Amino acid sequence: MKISPRIAIYTLGCKVNQYESQKIKDEFASQGCAIVDYDQEADVYIVNSCTVTGIADRKTRQMARRSKKINPSAITAVIGCYVKTDEAALAEIEEIDVLLDSDNKDGIVARVLDILAKDGRYIQDGAELVEDKDVNADGVHVHDFLHTEDRTRAYIKIQDGCDRFCAYCIIPYARAGLKNKPVREIIDEVKLLVAQGYKEIVVTGINMALYCCDTIIPANSAVSSTEMGIHKDDRNVDLLVLLRLITAIPGDFRIRLGSLEPNVLGAEAISALAKLDKICPQFHLSLQSGSDRVLNTMNRRYTRADYIHIVTALREVDPLCSITTDIIVGFPGETEEDFEESLSIVDICQFSHVHVFRYSKRKGTAAYRMPNQVDEKVKSARSTKLIRAAEVAANEFRQLCSGHTRQALVLNGTRAITDNGIEVMGLYDERQINRFVDVVL
Ligand code: SF4
Repeated sequence: MKISPRIAIYTLGCKVNQYESQKIKDEFASQGCAIVDYDQEADVYIVNSCTVTGIADRKTRQMARRSKKINPSAITAVIGCYVKTDEAALAEIEEIDVLLDSDNKDGIVARVLDILAKDGRYIQDGAELVEDKDVNADGVHVHDFLHTEDRTRAYIKIQDGCDRFCAYCIIPYARAGLKNKPVREIIDEVKLLVAQGYKEIVVTGINMALYCCDTIIPANSAVSSTEMGIHKDDRNVDLLVLLRLITAIPGDFRIRLGSLEPNVLGAEAISALAKLDKICPQFHLSLQSGSDRVLNTMNRRYTRADYIHIVTALREVDPLCSITTDIIVGFPGETEEDFEESLSIVDICQFSHVHVFRYSKRKGTAAYRMPNQVDEKVKSARSTKLIRAAEVAANEFRQLCSGHTRQALVLNGTRAITDNGIEVMGLYDERQINRFVDVVL
C-alpha cells in the first residue's frame, strides 16, 4: 500500500529561498508525496521564512497559524531565517509542530516523513528514506539547481551567507558563515542544464560578490584557464573568474545574474563582468541610500560617487543595460536632505526598477539601537515619493529602449524576455518557444 501525503509550502523572501523551497518540493515529490497549494487541504504545511523585515516575520506567523484552520490535523513546520533569529517567538505559537533554522532546513523532508510514518500517514513500498548524499563538505548542495515551470530558465545557487554586517541587515545572523559551491561542480551543473536544453541560467547567492573559488581551475577541466584568458591577478575577483569559466562553456545559452553588492565589487570588476559574452546586461545592484552620510552609518563601504561610477561603467558597455536596485527610506537619522539625495540618484541612474523598503527595526542589528528613528508617517510619505520617482525613471528607461532590437528568449506562447530584462508580450508559435528571437521594442 502506498499513501501519498499532501505537502504545501509557502515561501517568503529572496530568490535563494525560492530556490531552496523548490528543492524541498522536488525531494518530497521524489518520496512519493503530492505537492499542493498552500490554500488547499494538505497533510503538511511548511513556511519557508524570511526575517529581513518585520512584515516578513508577521507574514510567517500568519501563514503558520492559517494551516490548522484548513486542516486541524495537519503538521505545521516553519523553517529558515526567522527560526534562526527568533526561535523563541515561534515556539510560542501552538499551531507550529516543527521548527528548523536556516542551518538545518535541509533536514525537513526526513523530519516530516518520519512524523507522518509514526502516525501511519506515510507508507512507502519497501523504500527507506536515505540520507541526503548530494551535500559536499561545505554543506552546499551538489545538484542545487531549480527548474522554472516554463523549462526555459534554471537557477543555480553558487554561494550562501554574508559577513558584511550592514547596520540594518539581519542576514549575517540568519545565514552566518560563508559557503561556496566548488567551481568544478558549478561548471558540471551548467553543462548539464545546457545539455538539457535550458537557454537561460540564473546565477544566485546570498551575497554572490563574496564568492570564493575553492581551487585554481581544476587540471581536468574541459575549460582550461588559458583558454579562458584567466590571469593570475584575477584570483582576487573570484566571481569574475567563475563567470569567465561558465560563459566559455559552448552552447546556445545566456547567464543572468542575481543581486550584486557594490560593497564587494568595484566598477572595474563589474564592468569586466558585463563585457563577458553570454552575460545578460541586467544587473541588480543594491544601493540602499543616495546619501553618503547614510551609507556610512549603514556600513555600506561605498559612496554615492562610487555607485554612480559603477552605473556609468556598465552603461559604457551597453547603453541599454538595465539596472535595478533596492533603496531603504527612513533609516535612523535620515534627514530630508539625505532623502533628496536618494531621490536624485534614481533620476541620475535611470533605474529600470527600484524596490523601495521602509526601514524596519531588526533586533540584534546595529541599527536597532540607533537614535533618531524616523517617524512612520515620514517613512510612508518618503516611500510614496520615491516609488513615484522610480516609476518616472522606469518609463524613461523603457522610452530609451523603444525602437531598438534586442535578443529575447521566448518563454511561452505569449511572453518573451529580452537580454536586458524587458518582458515582451506577443504571440509566439510553438517552434519559437525556448528559442532566442530578435524583437523590436
Ligand atoms: S551585504 Fe549587507 S545587506 Fe547584503 S546580505 Fe550582507 S549584510 Fe545584508
